[in-house]
Parts: sequence; C-alpha cells; structure tokens
Amino acid sequence: QAAALAAGFAGNNRLADGHAVPLLANVATGKDAAKAAAAGAEGVGLLRTEFCFLDRDTEPTHEEQVAAYTAVFREFAGKKVVIRTLDAGADKPLPFLTNADEPNPALGVRGYRTDWTSPGVLARQLAAIAQAAQENEAEIWVMAPMIATTDEAAHFTQLAKEAGLKTAGVMVEVPSAALTSSHILQNADFASLGTNDLTQYAMAADRMLGPLAHLNDPWQPAVLHLIKATCDGAAAASAATGTAKPVGVCGEAAADPALAAVLVGLGVTTLSMSPRALTAVNRVLATITVEEAQRLAAQALAAPTAEAARDAVRGSLPILD
Ligand code: PEP
Ligand code: MG
Repeated sequence: QAAALAAGFAGNNRLADGHAVPLLANVATGKDAAKAAAAGAEGVGLLRTEFCFLDRDTEPTHEEQVAAYTAVFREFAGKKVVIRTLDAGADKPLPFLTNADEPNPALGVRGYRTDWTSPGVLARQLAAIAQAAQENEAEIWVMAPMIATTDEAAHFTQLAKEAGLKTAGVMVEVPSAALTSSHILQNADFASLGTNDLTQYAMAADRMLGPLAHLNDPWQPAVLHLIKATCDGAAAASAATGTAKPVGVCGEAAADPALAAVLVGLGVTTLSMSPRALTAVNRVLATITVEEAQRLAAQALAAPTAEAARDAVRGSLPILD
C-alpha cells in the first residue's frame, strides 16, 4: 500500500461522479503480479499464460502449470484475475504447437485455433487453471484469445465449465467477433477487447511492421466503431439474457489516458494495462463524469481520422493541456 501511494495510485479508481471503473494490470508472471499489486492494480485484466509454455519443446505438466498460475493468483487474493488461455502462434510461435511454415502466421492457426490441430492442450490447461483457482482466493475469470465465431465462443465456454471454472469469456480481437458480440455474449460471460490485434486485423496491417505503425493506431475510426459495436452487442446480449455481460479492454489502448476516457464513454467497464500506466489513467478519469466520457466518445466517433479523433478528445480534456 505504501508503494502504491508513492506511485500515485492506491486502487479504487472512480470518475468525478463516483462511477467505478476498476483499473487492472496486464501481467505474465508471479513477479509481474507482485509489482502490479504494489502499484495499486485492482486485479489482473490479462494474465498472459504464454510465459509458462515458451522456450520449451514439450507441454508443461499439470503441476508446472498449477504452480505458475498460483504464483499470480496468490498476489490477488479476493480480487479478480482474468487469465487467458494459451495464445501461441503469429508473434508467439511454439515448436510443439504451431507450424512455422504457415504463409500468413497472423491469419493462421493461433490462439484458440490450436485446439483444432493439437486437441487436449486447451482442456489440460483449463484443468490446471481450475485446480489453481480452487486452491487460491482470487476470483478467476478465464478467456480465450482469437475467438472469431459464436460457435467457438460456445465451445470454449463449454470446455471451461466442464473443467469447473465458473466465469468464461472471450477476447474480442478479430473484427468478426466485434460485429457479432450480441450473439457471442449469449454464449459467454464477458468480453475483453484486445485492441492490439483488433487494430491489426481491422487495418490489415501487421503489428510487427514499423512502416505500418500509423495504421496500427487504436484511434483509427474503424477501430473505435468496432469497439462501439462490441459494447452495443454486449448491452443487447445483457438485455436478452437478463445477465450483465461486461466488456473490458486489455490492449495498449487502455494505457492511453485520453483514449481510456473514450473507452469508458463507449461502455467499457474495466481497463487493464501495464502497471506503469495506472497513475496517469486514474488521474485523467478522475476529472470526468460518465456523461462527459460519453460526449468524448461521440466526438471521437465523429472524427474522420485517427489524428482528428485524438486532437478533439485531448482538446476537450483540460487536464491534458
Ligand atoms: C491484444 O491483442 O490487444 C492483446 C491484449 O493481446 P496480445 O497483445 O497478447 O496479442
Ligand atoms: Mg492479441
């Protein structure tokens, strides 16, 4: 707590009107999780589990996985931890799971799709997550990367529930998932927008390529409209099922304070980021109400370019002057 105060964020993020928007952390290891907790993170919004699998020739054992997940869960007793199942492929190749000869790895067998070519790895990971969840006090939500269709969401949710996990969701990082979130979220408990991949796929611009960086900008109007479509679909699914279907953001977009305000205005309920961004996002959100966030979102959606959207929103946030 002392470290959190020194760093400027002590948890409990609120807008100026008292509306809570929990600020969570993106982490990969127990060490990251300890740092995130010290920085005031209200939970984990993205636990990337690749670290447990990378640089190995074989799948980690059940015990190795339980130990790796426990190292993170124990730092957040009583708090929410959103753990993502293995996102191998594309920028994260794994020798025993992905095919290095694919012509277009970003469009290939990656994320959730590896369940089709290597059946069993996902179910075993879910079993390890469920055991670690049982042995720890954190509130565990599990989600799958690279979900593109409603059938995939339904299948993942079924696998997670069969493993004994209570809350199962999907990452929305493929435009097809953003546009069909009303159906997807009738088959999943929550969504988390992965704006890094959502931007890459919306703009057809490889996120690894420097010359395309101006396209890989989450302020791009197409990306903002996809985020809006996701939130609107979630609201429709909530109404249809009578159960709230929260939408978080765990891509880099959440770490940009002005964009964070826009995301809240679009209907996003939690923001997950690198712990070092928590203080700046908290400071800006504390200066606006929900209605102001909604006005900023409308301004951003009306802009014809990424630059225009960014300039308009920053110009409307006096704290950023
Ligand atoms: C994303 O795509 O925005 C995301 C959070 O996942 P990763 O960066 O690990 O692909
Ligand atoms: Mg991603």
